Amino acid sequence: MHIPVNFDPKSWQDFEPHYQALLRVTLTPANLSEWLRRGSQLEKYVWEIHAGCKRARSWNFEDESVRQSYQRFIDEIFVPFQEISHALQTKLLHEMTWEADAEYVEMIRRFQQAVDAYQVKNVPLERDIAELMDRYLLITRSIEHRCEEATPQQCSKEERWRIHQTYWHQERDKIDEIFLAMLSKRRQLARQAGFPSYTLYRWKQLSRSDYTPAEALAFHQTLAASISPVKTALQQSYAQDHQQRPWEVGQAPRELMSPLSFQRNADFEAAMAQVFSHLDSEMGTMFERMRVGFLDLDARSGKLPGSEEWFFPISGLPCVRVFSNGTDEDVQLLMHECGHAWHDFLSFAHQELTWQCDVPGEFQEFAAISMTYLATPFLFQDQGGFYPVSERARFQAFLLYEPLRWLPYIARFDVFEHWLYTEAPEAVSAAQLDAKWMELSQQFEPDVNWSKYEYECAHGWQQDGRIFGQPFYMLEYALAHMGALQLYQNACIDHRAAWQVYREALALGGTRRLPDLFQAAGVDFPLLPGVVKSVTDFLAATLEN
Ligand SMILES: [Zn+2]
Repeated sequence: MHIPVNFDPKSWQDFEPHYQALLRVTLTPANLSEWLRRGSQLEKYVWEIHAGCKRARSWNFEDESVRQSYQRFIDEIFVPFQEISHALQTKLLHEMTWEADAEYVEMIRRFQQAVDAYQVKNVPLERDIAELMDRYLLITRSIEHRCEEATPQQCSKEERWRIHQTYWHQERDKIDEIFLAMLSKRRQLARQAGFPSYTLYRWKQLSRSDYTPAEALAFHQTLAASISPVKTALQQSYAQDHQQRPWEVGQAPRELMSPLSFQRNADFEAAMAQVFSHLDSEMGTMFERMRVGFLDLDARSGKLPGSEEWFFPISGLPCVRVFSNGTDEDVQLLMHECGHAWHDFLSFAHQELTWQCDVPGEFQEFAAISMTYLATPFLFQDQGGFYPVSERARFQAFLLYEPLRWLPYIARFDVFEHWLYTEAPEAVSAAQLDAKWMELSQQFEPDVNWSKYEYECAHGWQQDGRIFGQPFYMLEYALAHMGALQLYQNACIDHRAAWQVYREALALGGTRRLPDLFQAAGVDFPLLPGVVKSVTDFLAATLEN
C-alpha cells in the first residue's frame, strides 16, 4: 500500500491502514529497504504534526485551545503511533535473520534497545508523567508572571533574586508533591520494564551503551576537580576576594556581558542571518527560510520560557524558539539552537530514513555548543558581523565562561539524579531531597557563598525544570562541552578544516556509534583517559591570554 503523493493525514484513521499494511508484509532481504522507506515516510508525517502542535503550544503556552489540541494529538495519534511502532520494531527484529547492511546497523541496534525498554503498560504512566510536567510548567509560568509584576523596573540583581525566591517558596509544597509523584511513577516504569533501577532503565531508553552509570559518576568527579581551579582563578581576576553570591551564579560576571544594540528582533535576525551566511552559505539560506514562521525570538507573556529547537521532517525545516533578554546571551542561545537546527537539517538532507537521523543526545549537544565557537569569528565587523572588533576578547571570554559556570553545576545535578534514582529510599521525603541537594552544593560548588540563604539553597532543585522533564540529560551537556572545546582548539589552528569535518560528522546523523561520531568530527570521545585534563589545560591557557 503506497503512501499517496498528496497524503495529508489529520487523524489516526488516516495513518492506520498504511501501518497495518506494513505489519502484514513478510520481510525478506529483497523488500526490507522499501518496507523501511515506507515506515519512515509515515513516521515523518507523525513528527510533522507533532512539530506543528509543539510550535503552537510553545509560542502560546497559556492558550487553552492550543494546549488541548496538543493533548488531543498525544492521545489520539501519538499513543497509537508508539504502540504500532513498537510492533513494527519487534517484527523487524524477529524476522530479520540475515546480517544488516552497514548503513542500518546502528539504527537496528537502537531498535533493540527501544524494544528492551518498552512496555505497553508503561504508556499510561508516561502520560501521567507528561501531565505532571504540564502542571509544573503552569506553576513556573505563574511564578514568573507574579515576579514580573512584583519586581520594580530599577532593581538590583540581589533584590530581583529575593523576589523570585519568595514566589518559588509559596509554591514549594505543590512542587514537592508533583516531583514525588513523578519519582514514584518513574520507579514504577522501571519495575514494570524489568529493570532494577530507573537509572538503568533510563540508560537503556537513552540508548547509552558506550559507557556505564559508574563511568559517568567518575567523570563528574574528575571534571569538577579539574575545572574548579580554572573557574576560581578567572573569578578572582575580575573581583579579588569576592565569593560569588547566589544571585550571581546564573550568568557570566558583569564585566563579560554587554547589552545588544538592536532595536527590534527583526534587526537581530537579519544580523544573525549575515553571520550564518558568512560561515556557510547553505546555512545562511536555511536560516533565511526559517525566518518565515520557524523562528521566534520574542520575549512576550504567554510564550514558553527557555530556548529550544525541533524539526519539521516533511517541510524539511528546523524551528527555533529563544526567549530574548537583549544581551549577549541571546547571541549565544541563538547560535546554540541553530547548531541543533543545522544538525537536523544536514542529517535529514543526507540520511534517507528518519531513524538514521536519531542522534545520541551527547552528540546533539556537541553540535549545538560547537556552533557557538565556530560561528563566533563571523560576529565581528572584520568578518562582516555586527560587534566591533574591540569586543572580541570580551565576547570570547564570555563564551568560555559558560563551561566554567556550567560544568560544576552539571556534575552536582547529575550526581543528584543518580542518588535520586539509585540510592534514595523508596519513601524518600522532600526534606531528604533538600538535604542531598545542599550537600552536593558544598561538594561541587564550594565557591558560592549561600550564607543567610541556606533555606533557598536547599530548594534550588525545584527551579530546574530538567529534573522534572529530562532525567539524566545533563551529563550530555558535560560530554558535549568536552568535545566542543576540542573542536574549538582545532578551529583556532584551521577554522575551515574544523568546519568541514564538523559539517561532515553532522551529516552522518545517527548512523555511527557515539565515540565514532566524535572521532568523525575530529575530536576524542570525552570519556577517554586524559581528555578532561587536556581540555581544561587548553581552557585555562586560552583564558590567560
Ligand atoms: Zn541544546
